[in-house]
Amino acid sequence: MTVHSLLTNPLTHLSDEILGCMELKQDPLFHKIPEDKIAYYVQASLRAGRVAAEKYKGCNIRRMYREAGLRHEVTDASGDFHQVSFRAQIDFAKKPPQILLYSSSLNGMQRVCRNILGASPTAEPDMDRLIDIHLAHEFYHWLEYREGSFTNERLEPIEVFKLGPYTKRSSVVQCSEIAAHAFCKEVLDLPCLPNLLDYAYLIEDNQLQEKVFEQQLETCKCWISRTLNTSPGVI
Ligand SMILES: [Zn+2]
Repeated sequence: MTVHSLLTNPLTHLSDEILGCMELKQDPLFHKIPEDKIAYYVQASLRAGRVAAEKYKGCNIRRMYREAGLRHEVTDASGDFHQVSFRAQIDFAKKPPQILLYSSSLNGMQRVCRNILGASPTAEPDMDRLIDIHLAHEFYHWLEYREGSFTNERLEPIEVFKLGPYTKRSSVVQCSEIAAHAFCKEVLDLPCLPNLLDYAYLIEDNQLQEKVFEQQLETCKCWISRTLNTSPGVI
């Protein structure tokens, strides 16, 4: 895979499992997850997102917001907080929860959006499409909030610390992100999990070396295939 191919091909060959695993790898407790449990967290999270998406497939995300009584706002304000750049946030303190989208952070992603996802079938401008993607992602978090439990809380906790009879367990928070990506992909009928846009953007912006990205994909492929007992070629 070269920079050219990464940014010009739709990369539909990157399975949800591999991209889900890339997301899981970012969990602060990832090193505590037993290797044979990696596929479980990825697959259970993908399933949660897909199941939630079933009743919304083909629906217009902006109409979903209107019907749910959810408000969203696109702001010019910077999405940078403590050196982390946010593109969207949901404020559960507001009643109803409010979704904030940061246009300055979204602007730079328009080109990778088109390169990775291809032209929109409805000829929607890239910026609107990016907004839809982030709205769908946050909609899933709102569904979790409404149900009173986030995806990570519904999956098995991992052991993070053990001292004698005392065991501290924690949920794997990144599972909620994997599920939100899967929900977004299904509802908007995207060719891949939308977190691929993040990586493509980082590579294009020289914040991530393509070689490093390829190595990470290979590592994920091995983890998933090992647990699923299958060849890396079929994932
Ligand atoms: Zn999220």
